[in-house]
Amino acid sequence: MDFSKLAEFLAQNNEPAFRIKQITKNYYSGRYLSFSEMTDLSLGLRQLLETNYSLSSIKLDKLLEDKFAKKARLILGDGSKIETVLMDYGDWKTVCVSSQVGCPLGCTFCATGKMGFTRNLTVDEIIDQILFWKHTNTVSRIVFMGMGEPFLNWDNLIAALKTINDKNGLYIGNRKISISTAGVAPRIIDFANLNTEINLAISLHSADQATREEMMPIARQYSLNDLKKALDYYTKLTHRQVFFEYLLAKDVNDSPKHLDLLIKFIRSNNLFYLNLIPLNPIKDGLTPSDNLTYFQKELTAAHVNFSVRHSIGQSINSACGQLIVEK
Ligand code: SAH
Ligand code: SF4
Repeated sequence: MDFSKLAEFLAQNNEPAFRIKQITKNYYSGRYLSFSEMTDLSLGLRQLLETNYSLSSIKLDKLLEDKFAKKARLILGDGSKIETVLMDYGDWKTVCVSSQVGCPLGCTFCATGKMGFTRNLTVDEIIDQILFWKHTNTVSRIVFMGMGEPFLNWDNLIAALKTINDKNGLYIGNRKISISTAGVAPRIIDFANLNTEINLAISLHSADQATREEMMPIARQYSLNDLKKALDYYTKLTHRQVFFEYLLAKDVNDSPKHLDLLIKFIRSNNLFYLNLIPLNPIKDGLTPSDNLTYFQKELTAAHVNFSVRHSIGQSINSACGQLIVEK
């Protein structure tokens, strides 16, 4: 929604200035799927808007549900498809948003990475995923952990964050937002410089450079060393924690040597926090490790700050890394 253009359009059609406020409020309330439902506008105006604008940049293709998660496959204006997930932790309903159609980074364990990359999402396409869920739910948290690498869609990410925050937008506080990145080091510096209360998560998956390169091709471009430097800068400037995601894959990153390096890495900065993630299975992907309990025991003994994050939504393939749509 380009509200400044819409304001011009309304003025040209002799509508009073307060209309734009009214329409903006209606839009971000998530209550409406079309202009024709906005009965606080005159019938003439509703029809005028309906013929000249579309309220949403997305359409529902398919909805899947299990006990704790709902997944929506959405169709965009150009026919591209993306997925968005609503995770239901009781009082907390969290929307997992996608930032790109596919992902260019091709991590070996991730279904989205296997799709390849089509394009960045627009600001509207990001916001409309949240509004889609808001239509039937109270949304309290947002995580940028859907399809794609948010830090490679920087400008639209920043613009979307502004709207998510804005009192006249979605009005969701920064502390309730998390962004996960595969480790685009220069953008981590930019993000640090914003000095916000948005939570930062990093897909680490190995603290061994060679293993990380094998699992995540981006590690060749930005090494663990680059990553660590950027993150130390971030913690120094913001005094905020950094959350590392580490999935355990059999015979890939689950050896005692991997564990040792992981312990060293996490302990190297007292604001580093580890989330161990059991691997969610995907087609032609890696195998879950049997060493989760062993890692837990050793990490506890080494006084590492960590927790195990059990995924929800596996039965509908909506858990971390399972989002994919065929082209
Ligand atoms: N591109 C960003 C955000 C999207 S991925 C990033 O990589 O951080 C969201 C999270 O799911 C990341 O932590 C990612 O590493 C994790 N993930 C990907 N595939 C997974 C899988 N098969 N099992 C568990 N987590 C996975
Ligand atoms: Fe892209 Fe993140 Fe999946 Fe890697 S884990 S392919 S960066 S979406």
